[in-house]
Amino acid sequence: MIHLNAHELFNKIKNKEVSALELTNAFITHSKKTNAVLNSYNLITEEIAINTANRVDKKIATGEKLEIFEGVPIAIKDNICIEDIETTCSSKILEGFKPPYNATIIEKLNAMNMPIIGKTNMDEFAMGSSTETSFYGVSKNPWDISTVPGGSSGGSAVAVASGQAPLSIGSDTGGSIRQPASFCGIVGVKPTYGRISRYGLMAFASSLDQIGPFSKTVEDSAHLLNILCGYDFRDSTSQNVKAEDFTRDLNRSIKGIKVAIPKELYNSSLSKEVKDYYDQLINKLSNEGIIFEEIELPSLKYALSTYYIIAPAEASSNLSRYDGVRYGYRSENANSLIEMMTKSRSEGFGDEVKRRILIGNYVLSSGYYDAYYKKAQQVRTLIKEDYKKAFETYDVILSPTTPTPAFKPGEKTANPLEMYLNDIMTIPVNLAGLPAISIPCGMVNNLPMGLQLTGNVFEESKLLGISNQLEKILCFKLNNSFIEGVL
Ligand code: GLN
Repeated sequence: MIHLNAHELFNKIKNKEVSALELTNAFITHSKKTNAVLNSYNLITEEIAINTANRVDKKIATGEKLEIFEGVPIAIKDNICIEDIETTCSSKILEGFKPPYNATIIEKLNAMNMPIIGKTNMDEFAMGSSTETSFYGVSKNPWDISTVPGGSSGGSAVAVASGQAPLSIGSDTGGSIRQPASFCGIVGVKPTYGRISRYGLMAFASSLDQIGPFSKTVEDSAHLLNILCGYDFRDSTSQNVKAEDFTRDLNRSIKGIKVAIPKELYNSSLSKEVKDYYDQLINKLSNEGIIFEEIELPSLKYALSTYYIIAPAEASSNLSRYDGVRYGYRSENANSLIEMMTKSRSEGFGDEVKRRILIGNYVLSSGYYDAYYKKAQQVRTLIKEDYKKAFETYDVILSPTTPTPAFKPGEKTANPLEMYLNDIMTIPVNLAGLPAISIPCGMVNNLPMGLQLTGNVFEESKLLGISNQLEKILCFKLNNSFIEGVL
């Protein structure tokens, strides 16, 4: 049962084939057992999950009608605040920190009675592409535990791919939902910037961060987005757009849609193996009546450099609040206030986080602000304009989600630039604030690969509709046999 998708599980609860409690217990047992190998959770929140499941069973017993996904378990990335539950961002500096409030999305999931199974492992403060920067150690990719699951929301992706939870939540600043979704063979959605409230999401780079779902199917993500999205006055960047049903276009035909493939993302930088694979795939999809055209988005070649100025700049500012006074870890061996703050930060942050703080402070310093930060903001505008022009002609933009399938731990840690290059396909989308999705499309070297589709701002319904049809054509199946090996 743990390998069913969220929709199937919800139907089983609704039809009284299984109680919400039985279902939740099955996922908790499986999570505990497999976490020993996969290291996907920082914490399993058994008690709150069971309380929620009991609420659902009570509703069923009294004959109340269930709303979609009531009783369906979900795992949450450990940078999203849950009241009184330790929330660490996988950083030593937040060890022991228990937020006094719930993030908006947690309130929404609680209102929908979705049992929260646990807090998932991630790169420290969401900085990374492999979960290797986690203070709690790397998570394992269930397809091949000698490889990484991607990051930074690696634990959330592993949870869904390995049957620990049918749904999970991640955050995406430069690809942290789509890239691990691609490595783990599942669906991951980064909505339009401002679609989902960031209230209670620990900030990394506020102008880029966005919360989004992981699931086994596009349809499940569409339903989960219906629960998560909506205006929130507590997030000043929350967009007040009309609520819509994201399942609206799921069955719409895609014959004749126009899909753009940007040369900047689809070129010789891909290995021959990967390029051949996607060439074949595009051929197959052309036979289904989809019109593909190569286009140029010239500013995209600057996206990675632009991101690695803007994201660290915002991070250095956001992370200044961790001072040893207000949250989590405090160094024991200091003799003055300044020394206490310095030592708490030096001992509490890992290397990658320190690297970002240094870069961020550098590009924001008075002598370099214009040359780096201001220039990067100008380039960001060019990137947005390039996309805007493309969407005047095309329905969606397509590329691989990642240049390669999952890699081995340690393979890219010696050279940060190599690690950064892993997000070359996903980062431009965050700079432009657009919605994008990764759907599994097949295997290269026995590991899953994802197809990234990017839509115009607030066109999630259309994006999900097209993705749902592609999912049907591609017929990718999660391989559950690896679970046997893990147990
Ligand atoms: N890998 C990118 C980074 O390290 C993106 C991370 C993310 O999306 N949170 O900045």
